[in-house]
Amino acid sequence: MTTLAELARAGDAIATTSSKSEKVRLLAQFFVAAAEDELAQAARYFGGGVFPAGDQRTLQVGGAAFSTVLRAVSGADEASIRAAWRRHSDAGDVTGDLLSRLEGRSSETISIRDLDRAFAEIADARVTRERTARLTALLERASPDEARYIAKLITGELRIGLREGLVEEAIGVAFGADPAAVSRAVMLTGDLGEAALLARAGRLDTAAPRWFVPLRSMLATPVAGAEEAVARLGEDVWVEDKYDGIRCQLHRSGGEAALYSRDLKNISTQFPEITTAALDLHADVMLDGEILAFHDGRVMPFHALQTRLGRAAPGAAVMSAVPVIYVAWDVLMVDDEVLIDRPLHERRGRLEALGVPHPLALAHLERVRGAAEIDRRFEDARARLNEGLLLKQPDSPYTPGRRGLNWLKLKRPLDTLDVVVVGAEWGHGKRRGVLSDVTFAVRVDGTDQLATIGKAYTGLTDAEIAEMTTLLLDITVADHGHYRTVQPRIVLEIAFDAVQSSARHKSGFALRFPRIARWRHDKSPADIDTLSRVRDLANAIENERVQLVDQGGS
Ligand code: AMP
Repeated sequence: MTTLAELARAGDAIATTSSKSEKVRLLAQFFVAAAEDELAQAARYFGGGVFPAGDQRTLQVGGAAFSTVLRAVSGADEASIRAAWRRHSDAGDVTGDLLSRLEGRSSETISIRDLDRAFAEIADARVTRERTARLTALLERASPDEARYIAKLITGELRIGLREGLVEEAIGVAFGADPAAVSRAVMLTGDLGEAALLARAGRLDTAAPRWFVPLRSMLATPVAGAEEAVARLGEDVWVEDKYDGIRCQLHRSGGEAALYSRDLKNISTQFPEITTAALDLHADVMLDGEILAFHDGRVMPFHALQTRLGRAAPGAAVMSAVPVIYVAWDVLMVDDEVLIDRPLHERRGRLEALGVPHPLALAHLERVRGAAEIDRRFEDARARLNEGLLLKQPDSPYTPGRRGLNWLKLKRPLDTLDVVVVGAEWGHGKRRGVLSDVTFAVRVDGTDQLATIGKAYTGLTDAEIAEMTTLLLDITVADHGHYRTVQPRIVLEIAFDAVQSSARHKSGFALRFPRIARWRHDKSPADIDTLSRVRDLANAIENERVQLVDQGGS
C-alpha cells in the first residue's frame, strides 16, 4: 500500500529543491516504491490530474463549495479564512494551515486507493450537498498535510515545481525506460498513469491511441510574417483559412461517434447532426477539425455558434436556426491504422479519400510556394475579413499536444479602437498591488455619454502599468474595493480580433481578444472612437466575412 502521507512527503521534498534533476530523482524513487496497483494513480496525481485520460468524470468542486467544506472541517469563521487566504493565496496551504490550528484532532491512514475511491464518490454525487458532504468526510479523516494535498489535487494545482515533462522523465528513470518513449506513450494515450504502467512492464512500444479517448490537439505557433514562415517551413507551404469556431476531435468507430472539445470534454450531444453524419462514413476514423456555424453555404461568425454552445440536446428550432458543419483538416486514424507519424500530404490524401458527407466538410487547402504567395493569400484572407491563416509543412507528422513549428498561424489584429478608461481593478498574481485590469468605453455619437465595451489587462509594460496605477488612484471617482470608477482621462488604443453583439457591456458589443496596443498620450477623450464605428465594424464582419471550406463529395 502507498499512502497519501507518503505522497505528501515526497511532494514536499520535491517542492523544496529547485534542482530539476533532484526533483526527478525524488519522484522516480517514489514511483519505484509505489504499490503495484497505485502507481498509475500516483503518476496522474503528480501530473496534477485526478482521473485517467478520456474519463469524463470531474470533481465539480468549485470555489464556493470548497469554502463551505473548509468552514465545516476547520470550524474557522469567515474572517480567519480570509486572513489565511491573504497569507497563502493557495487552496492547499490555506487548508493545511487551518487544520493544523485545530487541537485534539485525530486522523486515519489514507491510501492512494482510498483517495481514488473517495474522488470517484465525489464525482458521482448527484447534488452539491452530497458532494460537499463526501468531501467533508474525506477531509475529516485527513491530517493537515494530507488535507493540503487533497486540496491541491481538487484545485488542479500542485505547485511543487513539476511540469508534466519532469513527471515523464521520472517515469523513465524509475523503470529504466527511454525518456522519448515515455513521452511518446503520454502523447498517444494522453495518460501519465498508463505510460507509467507500460514503462514498468517494459511495453512502452505498445502505446497506441484508443477510440473514444481523445488525443490532445496539435497546436500552431504564431509567426509575424510570410518570410518567417518560409524560414521555418521551407518554400513549399500548405495554407488553410484560420477558422473561427470550436476545435473538435471526431471519433467514429463501429456504430458510435463522439466529439471532443480542445479541453477533451465530450460534447457529442450538442451537435447530433455531426455525429449522425459520421456514422455514414465508410470507415472508422479519428479526425481533427473545427465546428462552425454555417448557413446558405457560408461560414457564420463565432457569435452565431455561441447560441449552440452548452446546449446538451438542441431542439429542432435551434438546430435549424444555427446549422453547423464540421470542417476536418486532419485524420489521425483510419480503421485501426495509426496515421499520426505519416506525412501531412499522405494524411490529407486519406482524408480526401473518405468522401465525407455533409455536414462534414474539408478545410480549403492551397499549396503555395514562397513568401510572396503566402503574403498574397494572407491579403486575400484579410479582404474576406478572415482573422488569418494556418501554414503547414506538408511532410510533417501530427504531434498531439505540442505547439510545434510545423503548424504556424499568421494573424494580425483585425483592427484597433481608441477608447477611454472608465474603471480599473487590482491585478492578481504577478500583477498584485497594481491596477492592471482596465474597463474602457467608446463615445455615444454626438453626446458626452460613454458606453463600456470591454476590459483588457495585457499589452502595457510593467513601467507603464506602474505609471497608470498612480494616475488611476489620482483620478478615482469611487472606490468599490476591488473596482474603482475613474474619471475618463486615459486614452488607449485597443487591438482585437472581432466585434460581436453582447449584453455584457453597455454598448451592446464586446471585443474578442482585446489587448492594449498603445497608451495614446497624444490623444484626448474627445478623440476616441464612437459607437457607430463599432456598429459598422460588427456589421462588416457579420455580413462580409468569408471563410472557405470544401464541401464533401458523397
Ligand atoms: P489560436 O486559438 O489563436 O491559438 O489558434 C489555434 C487554433 O486555430 C486551433 O486550436 C484551431 O482551433 C484553430 N484553427 C482554425 N483553423 C485551423 C486550421 N486550418 N488548422 C488548424 N487549426 C485551425
